[in-house]
Amino acid sequence: MPLVQVKDLVVEYPGPVKALDGVSLALEKGEIVCLLGANGAGKTTLIKTLSGLVMPKRGEIRWHTSRGACPRAGVLLEGSRAFYWNMTGWENAMYFSALKGLPQQGLEAHLNDLFQLVGLSEARHRLAGDYSSGMKKRLSLLIALVGSPELLMLDEPTAGLDRGSVLEFENYLRRVAAEEGAAILCATHKLSFAFTVASRIMYLENGRLRSWDWENVLGRHRRAMFLLGGALPEDRAAIYQGHLRGLGENRWQLEGATDDPQLFRVLDALISEHDLHLLQMYGVD
Ligand code: ATP
Repeated sequence: MPLVQVKDLVVEYPGPVKALDGVSLALEKGEIVCLLGANGAGKTTLIKTLSGLVMPKRGEIRWHTSRGACPRAGVLLEGSRAFYWNMTGWENAMYFSALKGLPQQGLEAHLNDLFQLVGLSEARHRLAGDYSSGMKKRLSLLIALVGSPELLMLDEPTAGLDRGSVLEFENYLRRVAAEEGAAILCATHKLSFAFTVASRIMYLENGRLRSWDWENVLGRHRRAMFLLGGALPEDRAAIYQGHLRGLGENRWQLEGATDDPQLFRVLDALISEHDLHLLQMYGVD
């Protein structure tokens, strides 16, 4: 049975803005689901709704967890307000452990492991407000991971992390999913990250979930073609010469071998730095 089942979720903000428009999905234990989509597609709103921070206008959320509708959840939202700047990293970790009701027994060892994991052991007794932006991101991640959650919801978890930290983090996510059976939902703009860790990739567009057969395309084809939409100035497009072809009317085609990491780096750059969005993908051999 899935950990959570969502049916026909509709979320509207004043404006009115329909941020989610009939989203249905299920999250299974042990799977890593990556959620892609352009800015404003509704990714953060989906995570906030599942976290109980935003009330849906319509729809149903059914939980099948060890604590009913209150799963042991860890949430990482965007921004740097996930902890108290006037406390040390360690004090923050102790505080959020207490909020989550973690028992004292074994707590110190658990937190030491987490500080080790996010590479903040040396800095754990420094004021969190004095951390660099990458360190603040790591501490936010640590707080989401406190208490070994059965459901982890992470909004842009790799933003601001250096390459080595991203690799370590990818390994960690795979481990908590495989060994602890946690369900992980990650909103990301990084396709290379999604293709590396995800057991399933979903794509949100204007509040609607689109499902493409990523596995079929990337797992079974040697070459893939991505169709992208959006404005890209000529001089920018020239940087990606050899990979990217303009089709006119703000349509772009990117083609390459599915085992070529460069292809995904170009995709990442086009989507996160130049604001293009993915329209479709095909296997082309
Ligand atoms: P990004 O990739 O930029 O983080 P996102 O996919 O996470 O985007 P959301 O933050 O969920 O997108 O926003 C979905 C839509 O809802 C957007 O049109 C946004 O402007 C709107 N929205 C989000 N939060 C609010 C709010 N508090 N009040 C009004 N509108 C909002």
